[in-house]
Amino acid sequence: MSQTKYIPYGRQCINEEDIQAVIETLRSDYLTTGPKIEEFEQKVASYCGARYGVAVSNGTAALHIACMAAGIGPGDEVITTPVTFVASANCVLYCGGTPVFADIDAETYNIDPEDIRRKITDRTKAIVAVHFTGQPCEMDEIRLIAKEHNLIVIEDGAHALGADYKGKKIGSISDMTTLSFHPVKHITTAEGGMVLTDNEELYRKLCLARTHGITRDTALMESGRSDEPWYYEQISLGYNYRITDIQCALGISQMNRLDEFVEKRRRLVQRYNEAFQNVSGIITPYQREGCYNSYHLYVIQITEGSRKEVFQALRSAGIGVNVHYIPVYTQPYYRSHGYADVCCPNAERYYQRAISLPLYPELTYEEQDYVIEQVLRCV
Ligand SMILES: *Cc1c(COP(=O)(O)O)cnc(C)c1O
Repeated sequence: MSQTKYIPYGRQCINEEDIQAVIETLRSDYLTTGPKIEEFEQKVASYCGARYGVAVSNGTAALHIACMAAGIGPGDEVITTPVTFVASANCVLYCGGTPVFADIDAETYNIDPEDIRRKITDRTKAIVAVHFTGQPCEMDEIRLIAKEHNLIVIEDGAHALGADYKGKKIGSISDMTTLSFHPVKHITTAEGGMVLTDNEELYRKLCLARTHGITRDTALMESGRSDEPWYYEQISLGYNYRITDIQCALGISQMNRLDEFVEKRRRLVQRYNEAFQNVSGIITPYQREGCYNSYHLYVIQITEGSRKEVFQALRSAGIGVNVHYIPVYTQPYYRSHGYADVCCPNAERYYQRAISLPLYPELTYEEQDYVIEQVLRCV
């Protein structure tokens, strides 16, 4: 096939029903903070097997309010992975806490529970576990560590909507799980995010953090007054992290096709794996037994030759390959804020070789075959 159009590494899948859902909301009484938000929250929460969902303006805000609800503050350490988007660690800094990086497992690329154990101190308060590419972390082991050391577990599920760990949907396992609905993720609301939890107290804190720390619930108020119907109280310091009804209408419509999206991603992954499995110089993603990977990303490692040359050749061929991720602690901001000597060897070796190939539900087999052909040509 001769290639004419640019193939990105990820993109949204929008149909006529999605468009109609947004238009209907534009014609309704509420553009923001109307009925669509709760409907979306319930739809996602019930799909993931969680009691509560708190929808917010983006996945980073979801991580921030999750850290706030967890009570992270100055002096607290939170262990996370370096192979993630910076937001998974920045959320700890927002709260005045200290991110601590545990190395990844060389096979799964997820945080290594053994290294979590090594990084625990008296100040450790929580773990932010990122299900990288949609492959669930070792949650049994992480839960055990959390129980032994009395830690809160926040799962960054931005890559893992629709995934399951040993028969349990991601979102149903830990204290809190965060999601992102950025267009490259499994479903989109353009910008958007959510925190899932089963815990009523955390749920209340998340709702306060989302809207300025303001409540209209007299049971939560210091004065407890109920005689003035306009009355509200700000009882903590929160933010404006609201999502809109327009966005949630899109999200509700997208949720109807989530399973279909994940199946399509998995079929494409199967085709990539078959094409690359016996090719020397390429390591395909590790497939963990007993888990259902929802494949936000398809990452291969280039073990022979130059990853940079492969990357450039594919970009020149109109293929929007990417690298996920530069280890967070190597970012200049981190290096100049106490992380200059941090080194996670597995993460760094992984980073030298990783390349993400296009993967999204509407990627055609013809386009994928072109990608495969170009990859095989340059390794
Ligand atoms: C996308 C992403 C986020 C942040 O989500 P936004 O909606 O872009 O704020 C956080 N963590 C991971 C792992 C992500 O991939």
